[in-house]
Amino acid sequence: MNSIAEILFIVFSCFVFSAIFLFAVFSCLEKEKRALTVSVLAIVFGAGLFILAWSFFNPIFFLFFIGILILFGIYSILPLSPATSVRIVSEPGQYDERDIMFARALYIEGGDAYRDYYFRFPHRKQTDDLIRSLPEMLQSGGRFYEPAVALVAAGYFEQVKAIYPFVSRRPAGTKTAQDPEKITGMVKKMTFALGAIDVGVAKVSPHLWYSHVGRGPGSYGERIFLPHHFVIVFAVPMVWEAVKKAPGMPVIAESAKRYWKSGVIAVTMAAWIRSMGYQARAHIDGNYRMILPAAGAAAGLGEIGRIGLLIHPVYGPCMRLGAVSTDMPLCVDKPVTFGVQEFCLLCTKCALNCPSGAISFGGKKVILGVEKWSTNQEACYRYWRTVGTDCGICLRVCPYSKPDNIPHRMIRAVIRRSAVARRLAVYGENLFYGKRIYRGGE
Ligand code: SF4
Ligand code: SF4
Repeated sequence: MNSIAEILFIVFSCFVFSAIFLFAVFSCLEKEKRALTVSVLAIVFGAGLFILAWSFFNPIFFLFFIGILILFGIYSILPLSPATSVRIVSEPGQYDERDIMFARALYIEGGDAYRDYYFRFPHRKQTDDLIRSLPEMLQSGGRFYEPAVALVAAGYFEQVKAIYPFVSRRPAGTKTAQDPEKITGMVKKMTFALGAIDVGVAKVSPHLWYSHVGRGPGSYGERIFLPHHFVIVFAVPMVWEAVKKAPGMPVIAESAKRYWKSGVIAVTMAAWIRSMGYQARAHIDGNYRMILPAAGAAAGLGEIGRIGLLIHPVYGPCMRLGAVSTDMPLCVDKPVTFGVQEFCLLCTKCALNCPSGAISFGGKKVILGVEKWSTNQEACYRYWRTVGTDCGICLRVCPYSKPDNIPHRMIRAVIRRSAVARRLAVYGENLFYGKRIYRGGE
């Protein structure tokens, strides 16, 4: 028994050391200094423990220890507490685009929109006036303003505006009959071919589109009616190296580039669908009718987390969404659940690092019939206007943003099904990457 226990001990030690070494290698590739340092320290500490345990080796004690560890491992990965989805409490209501900060930022004193909006919501006037008095995004005066990078971002945003005329047009005269299954497959293939990393289809329901126009084409306050039955939602990844520079200017240049990319994909898809005789409208940056995070969740691209954004199973929140709504019959996808609701309850890293206090540390609330975390859009946008970028610290610190490689993939696989693994993952995240990453403050 002695020699079996000794062999087991050596195999077990090799396994543990290899796992930590592998993690250290990936941390080095990811340029995560803290994770690399902790891994190296764990190897050194582990080597000391190994020598000590080998010197006083007790087979009974070791077999008992390994037995407990195996039982714990099995318990951790058993689907005893599987992921749950977002709870719909009552018929979901529609969100009014006039209420979003991007629309409110455009209301000019003396204008009709300004008069109407603050007549209805006088308590929002002071905050909004203050925000509007701050420097415009990408303009000098923002804390992280860098002229050259700002010009790159502004260039991409200009390109997005240049494709607005292609967002919605008349379809070709005759409808070509399409088999829904076949055409859905083609739609997805084409979206991938154009550069998306994921795509899904949802049935359009009223809570997925805004009730009234707040910005973009159309008149302020106009009731929105979307005569489409399906929405194709897709994701375009953001480059992690740029996100890691949040809240500096490279992050807004990266966002702008991805908005442009998703815009090009959306208008191309919409034009193709219209050429088959069906209606199609692209939903792109600054020109939305649909609420893309909600549509993305319905189309099975991810789950909405504490951060208030869609979290993708592989790319986390590090992506930008685009969409095309259409009356062409398509096959719909199911929403996905992979543990975000439970993980976000334990992890409050985005809230802890958010410099504006816009992300809640608390539990979910029922908002327009859906149970979710609420975020303070005024505080968030005010910070954007203070720093002159779209911040992105919450994207940078979210554990789901970590690159898609073996260690992170394994962690995501276990937190999908096990409450113990989720708790351990939160401890591990804080130990290896630090709890408080951004200390810039407001
Ligand atoms: S973008 Fe920045 S300010 Fe806004 S919620 Fe995220 S961390 Fe907070
Ligand atoms: S940082 Fe943590 S709490 Fe925030 S969205 Fe990501 S996983 Fe959820």
